[in-house]
Amino acid sequence: MAEKLLEVKDLHMWFPAKHGLSGTFGEQKWIKAVDGVNFTINKGEIFGLIGESGSGKTTIGKTIMRLLEPTKGEILLHGENVAHIHRKDLKAYRRAVQMIFQDPYASMNPRFKIRDVMEEPLKVHHIGKSYKIDREPMIIDAMNEVKVSPPEEFLTRYPHMLSGGQRQRIATARGLILNPELMVADEPVSMVDLSTRAEILQMMKDVQRDKNLTYLYITHDLSTARYFTDKLAVLYLGRIMEIGTPDQIVDNPAHPYTQALLDAVCEPKSGKARVKKELKISGEIPSPMNIPSGCRFHTRCPYATDECRNLEEPELVEVSPGHLQACRRYGEI
Ligand code: SF4
Repeated sequence: MAEKLLEVKDLHMWFPAKHGLSGTFGEQKWIKAVDGVNFTINKGEIFGLIGESGSGKTTIGKTIMRLLEPTKGEILLHGENVAHIHRKDLKAYRRAVQMIFQDPYASMNPRFKIRDVMEEPLKVHHIGKSYKIDREPMIIDAMNEVKVSPPEEFLTRYPHMLSGGQRQRIATARGLILNPELMVADEPVSMVDLSTRAEILQMMKDVQRDKNLTYLYITHDLSTARYFTDKLAVLYLGRIMEIGTPDQIVDNPAHPYTQALLDAVCEPKSGKARVKKELKISGEIPSPMNIPSGCRFHTRCPYATDECRNLEEPELVEVSPGHLQACRRYGEI
């Protein structure tokens, strides 16, 4: 049986709206970026979170990293709730859970040579005493793992002297050097040339297989998510609308929002047209400060009825083993 590594239960991340955005005088309004999210990531799995911008996916990543303290809910690593752990325990947690940021350049000090970029996490966590004897061999190993070759040649370069793909490899190596259990990868290839994306994802997959690493892969790109992930959750306005394997989600989408996301991707599927008729959703994603009542997708859903607007928000229900969706009209439309 698969071993649970991370469980997210009823996660909420609400931010107080700034003064001036409040409603009636004295009434605090909230920006509900994450609003009741549940999922489990098993050890060695690549779990994808997909959604348009404003869906809350990056906020979930930052909350799991504990760069943000959740408003409500639990984040369990090996069954231990880390949602509100004390600052002194955060250091150990952050060694086990590392993040690859969307913009590797912004996440590196431009005045640091690659050697310093790589050495920094080792210093923070007091790993090794001397650079030459203890740390350099670890740095070289990590750079070899991400196929930066020959690593010695890169040590004295600055981040601006590297290509986007090389920088993303170094950012991955910097996370790997601490031997984490979980890597939160937030749009890791969105700022890399199209031609290099497949190589970077393949490198990440190779590393995952070699080290039995677990990824939370955050993306808006369904085509990479389909081929890179083992399980996929579709996020809309801070809540999961559908969850399943990539094949279940892509070949047999159950929720209208997932269907609309798929229809927005121009991807011919082995010469076959998609069987369902194209579903177009209207308008922009609503503000997380004014989440629609009932089904939160009703303002954009072409199938919405009065029940969708007025009844309680639908919960995720299983439609086949491991495939859950949250549309109350599933089976009718
Ligand atoms: Fe659309 Fe209603 Fe289903 Fe929501 S519950 S996705 S509004 S049909």
